[in-house]
Amino acid sequence: MILSGTVIADSETVIDDGSVVVEGSRIEAVGRRSEIRAQYSDREERSYDILLPGLVGGHLHSVQSLGRGIADDSELLDWLFEFILPMEASLSADEMEIAAKLGYLELIESGTTTCIDHLSVNHAERAFEAAGEIGIRGLLGKVLMDRRSPDGLAEETDDALAETERLIREYHGSFDDRIRYAVTPRFAVSCSEECLRGARELADTYDGVRIHTHASENRSEIETVEANTGMRNIHWLDEVGLTGEDVVLAHCVWTDESEREVLAETGTHVTHCPSSNMKLASGIAPVMDYLDRGINVALGNDGPPCNNTLDPFTEMRQGSLLQKVDRLDPVAAPAEEVFEMATINGANAAGFEKLGALREGWRADVIGVTTDVTRGTPLHDPLSHLVFAAHGDDVVFTMVDGEILMEDSEVTTVDADALRERANGVGLSLEEHRDAAAEVRP
Ligand SMILES: [Zn+2]
Repeated sequence: MILSGTVIADSETVIDDGSVVVEGSRIEAVGRRSEIRAQYSDREERSYDILLPGLVGGHLHSVQSLGRGIADDSELLDWLFEFILPMEASLSADEMEIAAKLGYLELIESGTTTCIDHLSVNHAERAFEAAGEIGIRGLLGKVLMDRRSPDGLAEETDDALAETERLIREYHGSFDDRIRYAVTPRFAVSCSEECLRGARELADTYDGVRIHTHASENRSEIETVEANTGMRNIHWLDEVGLTGEDVVLAHCVWTDESEREVLAETGTHVTHCPSSNMKLASGIAPVMDYLDRGINVALGNDGPPCNNTLDPFTEMRQGSLLQKVDRLDPVAAPAEEVFEMATINGANAAGFEKLGALREGWRADVIGVTTDVTRGTPLHDPLSHLVFAAHGDDVVFTMVDGEILMEDSEVTTVDADALRERANGVGLSLEEHRDAAAEVRP
């Protein structure tokens, strides 16, 4: 198959009248359309306004999709203990599957082809199956919580680690290696030292398994960790083995100089979630400082109850604007830089090699965007358009591993109308789990 249009192969390579040749799950060639057409004259061709690498959501909670709009205007720990943990504790296996599918549907519709997904404690296998079935690429993990955790979510440490190991064996490398495993402690507040060290052991035992957790998102969180351990959060995570080239830390808003040195020295990946950080009033992550230090920074939406969309284009825009206003510097976080965060940096964080750019031999994860909209007219600079003007709704075509998941804006791998109807039918029952969550709130 040949995909033609303005090809944004990476942040520095724009081919105005270009083509991408897809063979199986890989990209066979990228180049000028006239040359590609001459060489591959027998191939079917499809045309789009802009073609780009599928975007990478570096931190997500698909299973929170049913809670959009239930927890506006609250800060992290209130948000978590009054709304989110009670919701996660209350969801049945079927409801967890609906939530995960709804999340993946929204991602595919708006151009995210790879996600780093923080599931919940219970029923994680339903999300793995949903991701496999829908066709998205992902680094997924069941959540670990063994202290300061409410009934319904709290687990014995050994049980939590044993269930993680079972899921690794079942799903790591599954669905043609589109699905991989990340051991996923919720955050240091909810996890014992034994649990965190156990997470590291599992990641070391299984080749390619990574670690994904939240870190230093909020000031109350880091104060709680410091009161418990006597250490700054990143130093504590480093002490128990949760830093390194296989570790993705979401947020890292509140880090001091010495913690940033640890992140840089260990090659730890950071996922910046600008909308979530703004909405929960968490703070502004020092993204430009991280990038200056050579830290790999990806971009993420976080969950629907703290964003409240999974639109990756919104996140690129917010990611740029927030750094500009923080630094009072209009050249901070230009389009090229946030585009890299949403593509190649995210791919590096997720650990999928040959992903995040359109290059010969790389994975065929491609999206097509229409510019036939008023805000796309006239189109002076395609990359600027994608970062500052485009919406997820402008995505009309999504391909993962050479498989078409959405065409003409219709997702082909799930019945979207039926899924939305099922999601509308779920009644959340937070009240019965609120008291248990309040008891363990820091
Ligand atoms: Zn999160």
